[in-house]
Amino acid sequence: MTTNQVSYDFLVVGGGSGGIAAARRAAQHGARVAVIEHQRLGGTCVNVGCVPKKLMWHAAGFVDAFHKAQDYGFSLSEWSLDWGKLVERREAYLRRLNDIYGNNLKADGITIITGHARFVASGTLEVNGERLTAPHILIATGGQPVWPEKPGAALGIDSDGFFALAQQPRRVAVVGSGYIAVELAGMLQALGSEVHLILRRRHVLREFEPMLGEHLLECMQSHGVKLYHETEIERLDEAADGIQATFTTASKTGVRELLCDTVLWAIGRTPNTHELHLEAAGVEADSHGAIPTDRYENTSVPGIYALGDVTRKMELTPVAIAAGRALSDRLFGGMLDRKMDYTTIPTVVFSHPPCGSVGLSEPQARKQFGDKVKIYSAAFNALQYGLLDDKQQTKMKLVCVGEEERVVGLHVIGEGADEMTQGFAVAVKMGATKADFDRTVAIHPTSAEELVTLK
Ligand code: FAD
Ligand code: NDP
Repeated sequence: MTTNQVSYDFLVVGGGSGGIAAARRAAQHGARVAVIEHQRLGGTCVNVGCVPKKLMWHAAGFVDAFHKAQDYGFSLSEWSLDWGKLVERREAYLRRLNDIYGNNLKADGITIITGHARFVASGTLEVNGERLTAPHILIATGGQPVWPEKPGAALGIDSDGFFALAQQPRRVAVVGSGYIAVELAGMLQALGSEVHLILRRRHVLREFEPMLGEHLLECMQSHGVKLYHETEIERLDEAADGIQATFTTASKTGVRELLCDTVLWAIGRTPNTHELHLEAAGVEADSHGAIPTDRYENTSVPGIYALGDVTRKMELTPVAIAAGRALSDRLFGGMLDRKMDYTTIPTVVFSHPPCGSVGLSEPQARKQFGDKVKIYSAAFNALQYGLLDDKQQTKMKLVCVGEEERVVGLHVIGEGADEMTQGFAVAVKMGATKADFDRTVAIHPTSAEELVTLK
C-alpha cells in the first residue's frame, strides 16, 4: 500500500512563537508553507506562558494599587476577587488570539495541519498517517515543564496546571527559583494566597545580576511570601484537607512539613523532542533532548533547522520570533548571511516588583574584563512611596567597562523596570557609554531618570 505524499517548500513543526514567525516570513517571500500544530495555535507564550501570565500579573497589580491607595487618602471597601471570572475573561481573550493567529496564517496562504508530526526520513514527516515532504523542515516544538522524580510528585501541578486552576489556591507551595517560580509566587501572594517559596539553595534568579535576586527575596519576604532556603521537598502525600509536603533542609532545622492545597513545580523546562523520532531523520539531540544548532539554526542534518525553546539557546518569545524570521529571510528571501544575533538580549522577570536586565551582570563582566569594570548603582524610594508607610526600594546598576566606560550591563528592580528596560536596551545594544547616558537629559520625575544621573 502506498502512502499519500504531499510536498511543500517549507514544513514547520510547531505553531508557537518561532514556528509561526518563520512560516509567515517564508510565505511572504513566496514559499509554499505548512504549519503542523497538535495543540492551540500560538504555542506556550499565547496559551500557557507570557500572555496569560502577564494578565495575571496585571490582576495582581490592581490589588497592589488598592493597598497603596489607602495611604493616598482613598477610603475603599474590602476587595474580593472572583477568580472564576478572571480566568474566564482571560481564556476568552486567549481564544481570540488563537483565532487571530489562525487567520493570519491563512491570509498568508499557509496550510495549517492539526496533528502530531514525527520524522520518518530526513525530508519527510508523518502527520495523521499522511506523509509530508519538503526540502526545508523547521523544528520549533518548544518545551514543557520538568517534573521531579519524588514520591507523590503528581499531586502537584506545573505552570500549565496553574493556568488551568478553576479556583484560587488558598495555601500554595511554589518550588523553584527561576523566572516562573518567582513570577507565579509573587502574583499569587499579591492576589491573596498564602505562598511558601521552596528554594533548593539560597538564591533566586541564579543567572542574573545578583543584586536583582537578593533584593527580590527581601521584597517578597516583606510582602509576606514565606521563604524556605536550602530546602527540598522529599515527598507529597494526600491529606484529609490538602497535600502534605515533607521536606529536608540543609540545616535539618525549621519546618519539616507543610500542609497546602496546591504544590506548584517550577523547576525548569525540557525540550519537546522525545516524540519527534529525530533518529529517523538523523537529527542529533543532546542528553537533555535539546537540538544543537549552529549560528544559522542548522541542525546536524542539511535542510533541517531548529530554533526557539527546543534548542535551549535562550527561552524567550522575542528570541524565537527573531530567529524564525531570520531563518526564513535566509532560506527564502535571498539574504544569505541573515542570522539571529544572540548577544545583549534584554529580558524582564515579571516578579513583584519586576526585574529588568540587559547585558552582563557584575560577576560576568569582572570575569571577562577584570579590573576594567566600573560599577554605578543607586537605591532609592520611588516618588510614589513618598506618601506610603510601607516603602520598597528601587535598585539599579550600570556595569561599565574600560576608560570609555562602555555600558555592558544594565539592571533594574522596582516598579517600571519592565517598561524602562526596553528603551535602555537600545542604548546598550548600540554600545552607549556612561558619558552618553550622562548627556541624556533626565525625564523628571521618574525612576528611569536615575539611570542618566548616576554618580
Ligand atoms: P512554543 O511557543 O512552545 O511552541 C511550540 C509548539 O509546538 C507548541 O504549540 C506545541 O504544541 C507544538 N508541538 C510540539 N511538538 C509537536 C509535534 N510533534 N507536532 C506538532 N506540534 C508540536 N517568554 C518571554 O519572552 N516573556 C515572558 O513573559 C514569558 N513568560 C513565560 C511564562 C511561562 C509560564 C512560560 C512557560 C514561558 C514563558 N516565556 C516567556 C517563554 C516563552 O513562552 C517561550 O520562550 C516561547 O513560547 C518559545 O517559543 P517556541 O516557538 O520555541 O515554542
Ligand atoms: P528556569 O531555568 O528559569 O529556573 C528553574 C530553576 O529551578 C533553576 O534555576 C534551578 O535553580 C531550580 N531547580 C531546578 N531543579 C530543581 C529541583 N529539583 N528542585 C528545586 N529547584 C530546582 O526555569 P523556569 O521553569 O522558571 O522557566 C523556563 C524558561 O522560560 C526560563 O529560563 C525563561 O527563559 C522562560 N521564561 C521567561 C519568562 C519571562 O521572560 N518573563 C517568564 C517565564 C519563563 P538553582 O539551580 O538556581 O537552584
